[in-house]
Amino acid sequence: MNTLDDKAIVKDYFNATGFERWRRIYGDGDDVNKVQLDIRKGHQQTVDTVLSWLKEDDNLADISICDAGCGVGSLSIPLAEAGATVFGSDISEKMVGEAKQRAKATLKDDSCVTFAVQDLAALSGKYHTVVCLDVLIHYPQEEAEKMIAHLASLAESRIILSFAPKTLCLTLLKKIGELFPGPSKATRAYQHREAEVIEILQKNGFTIQREGMTSTRFYFSRILEATRTSD
Ligand code: SAM
Repeated sequence: MNTLDDKAIVKDYFNATGFERWRRIYGDGDDVNKVQLDIRKGHQQTVDTVLSWLKEDDNLADISICDAGCGVGSLSIPLAEAGATVFGSDISEKMVGEAKQRAKATLKDDSCVTFAVQDLAALSGKYHTVVCLDVLIHYPQEEAEKMIAHLASLAESRIILSFAPKTLCLTLLKKIGELFPGPSKATRAYQHREAEVIEILQKNGFTIQREGMTSTRFYFSRILEATRTSD
């Protein structure tokens, strides 16, 4: 499968059945099954870890943040609420539409968050911090490498990524899962080796600062924060 196929499949999925599924998982209604509830809790932990890192630095009001592949705004909206200027973008029109609605419903003033429908490979401009959570899982290594390099080029100071780590244990779990395919599994999930992600970040001028890991029963996400290495 080539990159265009991967992208087209992901985009179609998140504009159709994927939108319905993830809108519920990334919500707070009781319209989710046990697996989806577990994923909801895991994803919230990932968002909370990133929020706590960003808040710890105590400079949110002074920085611009690009949330690439923002989904329904699970990170963008609380960041805007905390005072940051946020640009969230996503390849799926439906996800962006939902993010806009949620921002309007949640924020007293939604002027510091902007959402746009855009493939992250086409993003331009410069941001203090670029964040990309749980997006790389949709792409194979070669494409993920290009994406990380591009996101790094937009980041003046910091990049935060999360991805499904490729470990023996998770690979086995994934294989077992594939033996029993459920109706919800509509896209391929790619795992990435942490050492390779770190190498890509280093090649692009970044040094790892903080690391996090969210593991629930069905959700696994490695989180890395890297800052631009001074020369
Ligand atoms: N980052 C969000 C979060 O953590 O709440 C959403 C994660 S969701 C699993 C993956 C999102 O990535 C979807 O909304 C999907 O449309 C988006 N996406 C996938 N490929 C993308 C691309 N090439 N450019 C921008 N967004 C993309």
